[in-house]
Amino acid sequence: MIVDLHTHSTVSDGSDAPSRLVRLAVERGLGALALTDHDTQEGWEEAAQAALGTDLELIPGVELSLDYPSGGMHLVVLWLTPGPGPLQDHLLELQEGRVTRNAEIVATLGELGMPITVAEIDEEAGAGSVGRPHIAAVMARKGYVPDITTAFELWLGHGRPAYADRLRLAPDEAIRLARESGAVPILAHPHTLGITTDTAMADLLTDLRAWGLVGLEAVYATYRRHEREGYSDLARRFDLIPSGGSDYHGTYKTGLELGCGYGDLAVPGSLLDELRSHAAGR
Ligand SMILES: [Zn+2]
Ligand SMILES: [Zn+2]
Repeated sequence: MIVDLHTHSTVSDGSDAPSRLVRLAVERGLGALALTDHDTQEGWEEAAQAALGTDLELIPGVELSLDYPSGGMHLVVLWLTPGPGPLQDHLLELQEGRVTRNAEIVATLGELGMPITVAEIDEEAGAGSVGRPHIAAVMARKGYVPDITTAFELWLGHGRPAYADRLRLAPDEAIRLARESGAVPILAHPHTLGITTDTAMADLLTDLRAWGLVGLEAVYATYRRHEREGYSDLARRFDLIPSGGSDYHGTYKTGLELGCGYGDLAVPGSLLDELRSHAAGR
């Protein structure tokens, strides 16, 4: 059985509606699909409806960007039951932080001679939370950049001229809240942490594990085989379960498909079973 434990829909920065993600997962014969939109579980109802009567195991989740100085630390949280709860109650605040940040980016782009409006990015995003990929798409459409990737490389990425920070949870707090919610926190795509030495990585994983981290995303779409093996070994060394997913965003990540990534991704269902054993009441 193959599963996909990291995906985004239109309620954050993916291009496919939650129901379409479910249909694609069923068509491709996936055993399980986790919906992990940024800071929001608004897609859950629609996805759950679409999954009714299918054999697909649909897992409610979310992806959080954490406060970490040296790079991008993302946390994929699985089996987070939608509704009130320790972590769930923070999601609205995090979404509001995105709105403030988007306004800041739009203002900076204006100063840099690339005027766009908040209305334009809202329209690009449709319903749900609005993020930098939507801003990048508007920039590309208006001819300021050739494509979304370039928009990030030149202007929107961390440390670039139009970058703006936003409200984030600290890693220890996010992990603690996830566990208190009965959910399973997983460190996403560790290459974005900006860590360059084995010692630094070991120190970090020791801390994260002590705070309650359960998994580390090792089987990731952009990783080559030796990287997937390396990160899986690393996870096991620190008593973490290797997890995996495509980080599917629809047309916002060209060529990346649900379940199979760039063609060579296959996250085994056995990892899902291991992860599930740490979710409350599963
Ligand atoms: Zn991420
Ligand atoms: Zn993601």
